[in-house]
Amino acid sequence: MTEYNYDLFVIGGGSGGVRAARIAATHGARVGIAEEYRYGGTCVIRGCVPKKLFVYASKFSEEFEDAEGFGWSVGERSFDWTKLIAAKDQEISRLEGIYRRNLERTDVDIHDSRAVVEDAHTVRLLSTGQTITAKYILIAVGASPNVDTSLPGVEHVITSNEAFHLSELPDQIVVAGGGYIAVEFAGIFNGLGVDTTLIYRGEEILRGFDRDLRTTVREEMEKKGINVILNDTFSKIEKQADGSLVGETKGGRSLQAGQIMFAIGRRPHTSDLGLEKAGVEMDKIGAIKVSDDSQTSVPSIYAVGDVTNRANLTPVAIREGHAFADTVFGGNAWTVDHSLIATAVFSQPEMGTVGLTQEQALEKTPDLDIYKSSFRPMKHTLSGRDEKMLMKMIVDAKTQKVLGVHVVGPDAGELAQILGVTLQMGATKADFDRTIAVHPTAAEELVTMR
Ligand code: NDP
Repeated sequence: MTEYNYDLFVIGGGSGGVRAARIAATHGARVGIAEEYRYGGTCVIRGCVPKKLFVYASKFSEEFEDAEGFGWSVGERSFDWTKLIAAKDQEISRLEGIYRRNLERTDVDIHDSRAVVEDAHTVRLLSTGQTITAKYILIAVGASPNVDTSLPGVEHVITSNEAFHLSELPDQIVVAGGGYIAVEFAGIFNGLGVDTTLIYRGEEILRGFDRDLRTTVREEMEKKGINVILNDTFSKIEKQADGSLVGETKGGRSLQAGQIMFAIGRRPHTSDLGLEKAGVEMDKIGAIKVSDDSQTSVPSIYAVGDVTNRANLTPVAIREGHAFADTVFGGNAWTVDHSLIATAVFSQPEMGTVGLTQEQALEKTPDLDIYKSSFRPMKHTLSGRDEKMLMKMIVDAKTQKVLGVHVVGPDAGELAQILGVTLQMGATKADFDRTIAVHPTAAEELVTMR
């Protein structure tokens, strides 16, 4: 029998890889893990966590204004970007330490190195040249920001990676893209006082979400002062003598800014990883093809998380890593249900959603009951802010099953989590109706919709 160095070797120390390593180790497997940058991965180091901290920071500007309607006088205020970056970096380092300690506690061997695949059971650490064998290899290397390399002047743009470390805030920024990252960063920069433009190639931002929500988020972003340009895209970017950038667009616009940030999607991080040589099949954007239980075309090699481009969300990667480890090392086979994932976009206002959009539901049945409620959140009766909250419920008219619930407004992400539970349980409209309201809340609208 072949004696391998490890039962499992994980490449990538992000959410999915770390979860798989720890669970496999608790099942008694001998596990090694390699990470080329920092443990915690995109979400902790340069994604969800620092992004959410930035969202909190950016919301204070409105909160100071709103406080006046409640009798407060808020004096002179100023914002120190360097202080925010330092505080954020300290928190990220703390979290990274927790990730490492959790690996150590479960006796996972940590290798601080880039690792590449040599063959079905071998990896090589680039820092030392050492080769390591393992019965199973798990690829959990995530994805990285995509830029349009054919765009003249693309070398001048930043992506979300750099946005977390800017030495100073620009006076003006243009964010390109209309997905989660573009919309969230446009809100952050605007809240921090940067003159912000969002440019998106399509006719409405946040493609794939419910149409009413997309329009509501865009209108509310515009009310907050973000200049949203639709149906246009950059054709060239030039750097001026004073260091500022000018972006020419296909629609004939000329946009000047201190920074231009591209958030046009992310690409699986699979180049130069040795996967082709090992026979691991990938699709045309480099995403690893996997079966429902995350196995690749090479039976001893598995892959989880964004590198597989299924649902590119941290909690999904964690679940995939956990299912893999239980299935392969725990004698308990299960797969992840990717069909009903509650999610939040930390746009301003926030968006929380679970289940089918109206457009998706219509593809299944024309027989729908749609409930919609648009109202001013109570806080703004005194703050005077012109902001509306939207709730929308999609119900199958025949079965009365709730197919989707979509919310725009304060704490929509928090609501989405619990709505996810109700939809997992197969809630009907009648279940919502017989639930007594919590008053006064915004959420009570969900049980009083008629
Ligand atoms: P998305 O895939 O969400 O959006 C990409 C955007 O860029 C789309 O609006 C797309 O337009 C546009 N685009 C794509 N190519 C081009 C191009 N060549 N020129 C101009 N525009 C282009 O990617 P993000 O980068 O926003 O986010 C990546 C992933 O990260 C998401 O899939 C998401 O799952 C995850 N994420 C989740 C968060 C959360 O849970 N809150 C937060 C941040 C990220 P079009 O619509 O026309 O294709």
